[in-house]
Amino acid sequence: MRHIDRDEIARRLTYDRCIPIVREAMIAFSTGETKQLLRAILPLSDGRMFGVMPGALGAHEPFGAKILSVFKDNAAKGKQSHQGVVLLFEPDGGEPVCLLDAGEITAIRTAAASAVATDALARKDAKRLTILGTGEQAITHARAIGTVRELEGLVIWGRSTENAQKLADKMRGELGVETVVAPTVRVAVVDADIVCTVTSAVEPILEGKWLRPGTHINLVGSSYAGPVEVDNETVTRSRFYVDSREGVIAQGAEFLNAKRAGLIGDDHIVGEIGEVLAGKVEGRRSADEITAYKSLGHIAQDLASAWALYAERD
Ligand code: NDP
Repeated sequence: MRHIDRDEIARRLTYDRCIPIVREAMIAFSTGETKQLLRAILPLSDGRMFGVMPGALGAHEPFGAKILSVFKDNAAKGKQSHQGVVLLFEPDGGEPVCLLDAGEITAIRTAAASAVATDALARKDAKRLTILGTGEQAITHARAIGTVRELEGLVIWGRSTENAQKLADKMRGELGVETVVAPTVRVAVVDADIVCTVTSAVEPILEGKWLRPGTHINLVGSSYAGPVEVDNETVTRSRFYVDSREGVIAQGAEFLNAKRAGLIGDDHIVGEIGEVLAGKVEGRRSADEITAYKSLGHIAQDLASAWALYAERD
């Protein structure tokens, strides 16, 4: 069986390559072409988790599963927070053909999915990006969003100012965009056109009242029913899109909090991003609307990226 390691994925799964792959995967997801089970999460000690995500790209398409651990305390040890494998099967004989590093695919495809949503929902003239968080997803999101909008400014906020400064220095050098560190979340978002929340926060760090009209926000850091990064007002003030309606109704923590508070119903979800991309659901309607994209992450994104790396020689 072939093995595709982290370095090879980082080198070959560029955003120019991954973004169209994820865009097509999300359209296939929303038309019901892909098949997947709701992810299973086994809690381990101290908030550490073991997850299994099985799926197929279609009835006669490649299939497989992502099997991974999520250890929030890994960054301090210089390790990825998400580690594991994507096991890929081919559709003709049902053989397992390739094992790929799950941490690197997850890091890249998640940011690519946010870039797809940003491209579809953010204002065309959006140019100021704010990233809340300083970990792996913060880096990949800064890179990915920079490929779908002409960025003129990048603002980083982290609970550790030192980490935020390190990331700002790195991204300034890499993207060539003016990059500053914000002292508070409020200051970070107040002038933003695009916000990405990519932290492991468990309680809200962002209040909806701080967002300015016209902002697009990608809610990424919480990927199961539990931790939240933003308050109820962020959800209620937004025209709210999701990667998976079923997934968010079951596991979208911020959405579920606002629903539990009686502020919204399931109809607050305007649509899935795949429906917007397919032209079935309307996206942003005006320049001053706040749009939100709730990302939980889906196996279709992993499998489509994995299959491209396996099947396409380059
Ligand atoms: P990292 O561990 O690399 O980074 C986590 C970041 O969150 C760090 O900046 C950390 O700060 C910060 N953080 C942790 N706790 C808090 C807190 N209480 N308040 C504010 N900031 C906090 O993780 P990743 O970048 O890989 O992932 C980020 C989040 O995204 C995770 O929660 C992960 O589960 C989620 N995720 C979601 C996916 C999806 O598809 N939606 C896919 C992949 C990840 P510090 O450096 O100070 O510790």
